[in-house]
Amino acid sequence: MFKRQIELIRKNPKKYLREHLLLFEDALDSVSTDNLLFLMLSSANYESVYYFDKVKAQLESKHDELSDPLRAYIYFCAEGIMSRSIMQPTNALRSFVNAYDRALLLDDPALIARSLVHLSTSFHLIEDLSLSISYATKAVEMTPYVDNPALKGDIYMNYGFLLHERHELKACLNAYHHAENYYAKLDERDEYLNYCVLLVNIGEAYFQSENSSKAISYIDTALEIANKQGFFPFLQGSIKIISDYYRRSNQLDKANDILNMYLDSHIKMTLNREKPAVVKHTGSLLKELESIHHLASQNTQLAAELESLHVILQRRSDHTTLKEDIIHTIAEGLKSNQFVPYVQAKWDTNTREIIGGEVLARWHYSDADIRTPYAFIDYIEDTPLIGKLTEVLLDATFESLGDLLSNRRQFRISFNLSAYQLVHQNIVGLLEHHCVKYGIKPDQIELEITERTFFENDKKAIEQLHHLWGNGFHLSLDDFGSGYSALSSILSLPLNTVKIDRSLIKDIDSFEKSEKLFIHIVEMLGDLGIETVAEGVETSRQLSIIKKTACRICQGYLEQAPMTTEDFKHYFYQHSQ
Ligand code: C2E
Ligand code: CA
Ligand code: CA
Repeated sequence: MFKRQIELIRKNPKKYLREHLLLFEDALDSVSTDNLLFLMLSSANYESVYYFDKVKAQLESKHDELSDPLRAYIYFCAEGIMSRSIMQPTNALRSFVNAYDRALLLDDPALIARSLVHLSTSFHLIEDLSLSISYATKAVEMTPYVDNPALKGDIYMNYGFLLHERHELKACLNAYHHAENYYAKLDERDEYLNYCVLLVNIGEAYFQSENSSKAISYIDTALEIANKQGFFPFLQGSIKIISDYYRRSNQLDKANDILNMYLDSHIKMTLNREKPAVVKHTGSLLKELESIHHLASQNTQLAAELESLHVILQRRSDHTTLKEDIIHTIAEGLKSNQFVPYVQAKWDTNTREIIGGEVLARWHYSDADIRTPYAFIDYIEDTPLIGKLTEVLLDATFESLGDLLSNRRQFRISFNLSAYQLVHQNIVGLLEHHCVKYGIKPDQIELEITERTFFENDKKAIEQLHHLWGNGFHLSLDDFGSGYSALSSILSLPLNTVKIDRSLIKDIDSFEKSEKLFIHIVEMLGDLGIETVAEGVETSRQLSIIKKTACRICQGYLEQAPMTTEDFKHYFYQHSQ
């Protein structure tokens, strides 16, 4: 009975959750432990942190009943799947090691094989391809002892996926076809989410081996199933490849249809999910290692696995030390004023008058070594130092450009904000303080935020954004078009402008399709009452195309590269009277 339920959930977690949704209203406390476990597993598979947390909290009170190994197995699997989907791979590994432990106790080949696949996927997540393959291979070796064709299919699919990563296309397709054959044994294979994923994966592999007719036939079947069963949200990564394929082969309608189907389901799914901000501090790695050792002392059979975990975690903490060193140097640099603002002009598409500027950080490490943000932002973006950087830039920018700002009330200066600042720091307070200190009006300050910030749907971040908006600051969505989820942000966030990513501008003067795409985006945003900025404008041909649209503002090397605030001031006054 347990296995039947697990099977049903794996098949289609969304369906299972939907059928049991009523329980979440207020009846959760009357649900049996077993059913709670099934709900936990299905919400993990559906990647819904919201439902998952609710059920997990309810299970807390039934702790005693979880000592049963089969129950514990489901519990740990669910926990691992959830951690994996919110990108906490070391947590996921720990849960899956626990699940594996219970599977061994139960001496059940299907459960052991399933946990091996889980372990393999978690190693993949921490980019240890060789360990990931070694677990995938162990799972393949278990298949003669496994009865369930869907599980055998999953085992081969995972194995094939990893071979694909290693660019062993032939072996990969071979494994995928094994998986396909196992699924072929099931009458209701179309109802399995993983089967649909498998077909897309096979299609992708055929695209790469340049057998596009085979690729298309697999992908068409997959799309049909995805459409019928509502699987689109789970196909995120692959959908772009499929859509790109159709775009390249000039079937634009089809390419658009696919993207639209995907976007539609993605938005619905985002509304369903409530992911917490995943700000994980590397310091906890060693603690995790300790608790994994504790586990080891309980079960000698795990010794080999733990050995490899140890190596990995050690390697990761070595890496951490290096990272911590860099962070330390950055912190020191911030204290000793090594970080300075550069400014790049934003100009009117038609008159080329300079109407604003974006502040871009530079690390003045030495006179001969001036570093761009790629050398430091990533390291500090999830730490309080990112707020310190903004503070330093605000002060230095206003010290230098304060006069310009008060002389030219139309001029607007932009700063980049990271997610961490909106989630964990009082950015509204910081900005207001600077407005008072330098006598600057909030409507002369613009904040650039990327859609990634809202991917986690963090309530605090969204709240602060509304706060900023309410206080008169301008808000701009940065890097639009570099990812696919931006549309949903545009509809739900307060925004004055959207900056069209330079990857979209790059080709508008050489590919007609890029030009068309750009024109449509500007039109669509215009319809929504949002102003557009074209970023990375480098050639006059690009500019002449932009001029044909309603995009009023440009930024890019054609006019000016980022320069120090003093140089910018001279440049500005020379170019405007
Ligand atoms: P971004 O916000 O998309 O900034 C635009 C980047 O494009 C800048 O790179 C700029 O130098 C570059 N760029 C401008 N015009 C052109 C062009 O015509 N062609 C090309 N190829 N590139 C152009 P930069 O200064 O290296 O900044 C990189 C990223 O670092 C920025 O991307 C931004 O996301 C981040 N960043 C910079 N300063 C800060 C900061 O103070 N705080 C935070 N959180 N992020 C920052
Ligand atoms: Ca920016
Ligand atoms: Ca940008």
